[in-house]
Parts: sequence; structure tokens; C-alpha cells
Amino acid sequence: MERINYYTLRLSDGTSTDVLIERKKIKNYYMKILPDLTIIVSVPLRLDINIIYKFIDSHKKWIEKSINKFKKAKQDNIKDTLINGGTVKILDNQYIVYIYSSNENKIIFDGFTINIYSKKVNDANYLQKQYNEFLKAEAYEYFKKILNKYLPIFQKYNVPKPVIKIKPLKSKWGSCRPNTGEITLNLHLYKASAQCIDYVILHELTHLVHSGHKKRFYNFLEKYMPNYRETEKQLDTEAARLLY
Ligand SMILES: [Zn+2]
Repeated sequence: MERINYYTLRLSDGTSTDVLIERKKIKNYYMKILPDLTIIVSVPLRLDINIIYKFIDSHKKWIEKSINKFKKAKQDNIKDTLINGGTVKILDNQYIVYIYSSNENKIIFDGFTINIYSKKVNDANYLQKQYNEFLKAEAYEYFKKILNKYLPIFQKYNVPKPVIKIKPLKSKWGSCRPNTGEITLNLHLYKASAQCIDYVILHELTHLVHSGHKKRFYNFLEKYMPNYRETEKQLDTEAARLLY
């Protein structure tokens, strides 16, 4: 059973933040911060509350640093803007957008600029839909290529043949249904770096062999991506930029 309560931590700038206290069947305690700035400290079931408060207080510097890191990532965020002279992000690169009125809808990406030909140049929702379709098709080709790169690792495990689905998701990069081999990837992932995309696809594929996030899951992952921890951190920053 888990019991949850909060501790309100005063920060140096005079504001305060809630730290979620999660009591679990664990021996050690640890703290994490999510890209949406939720701070969670996980502690053993019966640990004295004053020790928990002390632990949180002693990590104030780390908490402030982490909050600032995610806030900065959010500020750096230049969201896709589908207007003439606006920009969009693909594979961690920024491209300028040009929009042309046309009787035929098409999008041409020449490696430098995104040229959107549209029947409704003044309808922002229409343009967004048109662009999302284009992005999804491009992402699909790219994700498939990465999936095929990692697939040989999984062939000996007798797992179902993976099928990729792409959706614009709000709070996660991907998910996997090990029984059907269905891997759902976030459309926004295609805006992140190649290394981040490799990680998410390898992570989801690994779930075909190991469910959950236990030690054997990460041992497996590490074997094929030794620097995966750095990439996870990079993905958290990307999440603050692209998802929240
Ligand atoms: Zn997972």
C-alpha cells in the first residue's frame, strides 16, 4: 500500500513548491523531478516524517537547479509556428516555413525550408492538420528505419513482429503492447534528436522482452545503448520543450 502526502518547500526566490511524498516498500529513498515540475520523493513505508523533511530540505539546491533547468528549456522552446517566416522543428533542427496559396494541398521539404501549398492559407487549424499529416508520414518512414536497425537484436527472443503507430501524445514518448507487438510513438518525438528517437524505440522494443522497468530491463537496454542514462535526461529536457 502506498500513502501519499505533501511537503511545502520554501525556495530561495520566496516562492514555494510542493514535494510529493510517496511511501513505498523500498529500503533507500530517492527524489525525482518530472518535466512538468512535479517533485516526488520516494521513501520507505515507516520512515520518520522529520527525516523526510530534512532530506527534502537538504536537497533544496538540487530541486531549484532542476526546476530552473526545465523552466529554461520551456523558455527556449520555439514552438512550431505555421506562418510565413515561422519555423518548425524536425530531428532537432529548425526549418523556416513558407506558405503558398494553391488549389492543391502539398508540402515540400527541400532539406532547408518547409514549403506548404494549401487551399486554405488563412485557416490555422487546417494548416496544422495538413502539416501534422505530412509530419506523421515523414516520421513513420524515419521511425521504421530505426526500428529495422534494432530489430535483429530481438529476433532470437521469439517476440511478435512490431507494428508502429504514431499519435500526437501529451505526456509520454511512447508505449508498447508486448502481446501484439504494437508500439505507439509520439508524433512530437520526430522533433527531438536522432539519439532520443533511437532511445525511445529501443526502450519500447525492449518491453517485448521485459515488461516493467526493473533491473533486467535496464541491463538489457544498457547492453545495446551504454549511454542511455544521458539520453533519458536529454529526453526529459525535450519533454519540457515539446510536450508541456
Ligand atoms: Zn517503458
